[in-house]
Amino acid sequence: YSGKKPTQSVSDGMIGMKVGDFQSIPVVVNENVSVYDAICQMFLEDVGTLFVVDKSSCLSGVLSRKDLLRTSIGTTELEKLPVHVIMTRMPNITYCKKQDTLIHAAKKMMDKQIDSLPVIVEKSKGLEVVGRITKTNITAAFLSLAEEHEL
Ligand code: ADP
Repeated sequence: YSGKKPTQSVSDGMIGMKVGDFQSIPVVVNENVSVYDAICQMFLEDVGTLFVVDKSSCLSGVLSRKDLLRTSIGTTELEKLPVHVIMTRMPNITYCKKQDTLIHAAKKMMDKQIDSLPVIVEKSKGLEVVGRITKTNITAAFLSLAEEHEL
C-alpha cells in the first residue's frame, strides 16, 4: 500500500496521463482535394474529423462530419469543390502537443465544443500533424484509469 489516499492516487494518475500516450493516428488530406473525395476518405478511414494540410504538409484546416454534411445538402458539384473553401482554417484551429496532459486536451475540446484536436509539432514552416485526440481517446483513458484503480 502506497500510503496515499485513493483520491490522491487517482488524481496523480490523471495528471500523469499525457496526450502522447492516448493519441490516435491522424488522417490528413491535401487542401486541394474535393469535398467528394474527403467524404470518401472519412468513410474509408472511419474517422469523424479530417485534418487538412498544405503543399508543405503543414496544418491548414479541419473538416468535421457536419462541415461535409452542410456542404453536401447545399452544393451540387462536390467533385469540383476543393476542401479549403469549406474547412475551418488556421489560425482558428485548436491543437495540442504530445506532452500536454489529457485533462488539458479534454478541457480544450469542451471549451470549444469540438470532437477532436490535432496533435502537432511546431516546425519553422508551420505545424506538423503527428496525432489526433478525440473524445473516444478521453473515454479510453477514463476507463484505463478506472481499471488501474480496480474501480
Ligand atoms: P461536427 O461538426 O461533426 O459536430 P465538431 O464538433 O468536431 O464536429 O466540429 C464543429 C466545428 O468546429 C466544425 O465546423 C469544425 O470544422 C470545427 N472544428 C473541429 N475541430 C476543430 C479544431 N480542433 N479546431 C478548430 N475548429 C475545429
